[in-house]
Amino acid sequence: MTTTVTTAPARTRRLSGFQPTGHLHLGNLLGALRPLVTAQDAAESIALIADLHAMTVEHDPAEVRTCALEQATVMLAAGVDPERTPIVLQSQVREHTELHYLLECVAGYGEAARMIQFKEKSAAGGPVRLSLLTYPVLMAADILLYDVTQVPVGADQDQHLELTRSLATRFNTRYGRTFVVPEGVRPDSAARIMDLADPATKMGKSSGSGAGRIALLDPPEVIRRTVARAATDTVGLVRRDRVDQPGITNLIDILAACTGRPPADPTSYAALKREVADAVEALLAPIRARHAELAADPGHVRRVLAAGAERVRPIAAETVRRARAAIGLLD
Ligand code: ATP
Ligand code: MG
Repeated sequence: MTTTVTTAPARTRRLSGFQPTGHLHLGNLLGALRPLVTAQDAAESIALIADLHAMTVEHDPAEVRTCALEQATVMLAAGVDPERTPIVLQSQVREHTELHYLLECVAGYGEAARMIQFKEKSAAGGPVRLSLLTYPVLMAADILLYDVTQVPVGADQDQHLELTRSLATRFNTRYGRTFVVPEGVRPDSAARIMDLADPATKMGKSSGSGAGRIALLDPPEVIRRTVARAATDTVGLVRRDRVDQPGITNLIDILAACTGRPPADPTSYAALKREVADAVEALLAPIRARHAELAADPGHVRRVLAAGAERVRPIAAETVRRARAAIGLLD
């Protein structure tokens, strides 16, 4: 049988990546995980747990493993249906690293060193891993490997997606059409969740204060306490104003994202916080319960990951075959 070389998938294919650098939080859910679950019918998605990316900074081997497994479990608990959306552990599909190297051969040092995230993270002090510099090229490989047409990205990833598009285009121009050039799609702007204690920075696994992060598996009392301690202001009005009232704006955005409704009382910060805590708890309680059931059988989650890798490997193998042939390697 001859294989047909297709560089364009028949329908929209998306890739959403998560780094196992910590516990998934409310920002990850509202900004990435829930949109992924909602789009499962409309688009073919791949959920990638990018464990190789977690090693670009100082890491604890046992934690990366535990965290990767926990993320896969939380994804299932949040409604990712592995029958429709393969959950893939990046390191279990070896083609990621192979394509990474091939793409390094069309990427420039200057291009990588210019990346804002590299500059910020490398300026933070301590030893800088070479993999931190080449990380955007690995991210390009993650995307190009699967003929992805759309990548949902937050503003912090715009530059990396642009690099992905440049590398794909350059490779195609020099060596013949090999890669699909993906488009970036912006998730709902309201879905950029800020740190509750420090609303000037986004809620993050490895950034932010910790005190202002709501992890998806936090118990109800921790959720209540975190919301109760959220930073506010002295204006006294419940209204959206990112500049003067970033904390209140964030709480209103969270409420809207959880319930689709505006706050009931436009004057009381305490009432707003109660509403937000209730809404977040209502959203997270079923995920927590489902997670507890799934976590009782880690073998099942491992099998989901193995099946996910199995499903996507043929696509990855075919892309690498095309890239190897185009760039000058023998079969
Ligand atoms: P890290 O601090 O390790 O970068 P992170 O919290 O930024 O962790 P990622 O694994 O980098 O999480 O991102 C996973 C997905 O979650 C991405 O699609 C990202 O855009 C989205 N995301 C991350 N933080 C937020 C947030 N605060 N609000 C909305 N979406 C977010
Ligand atoms: Mg991030």
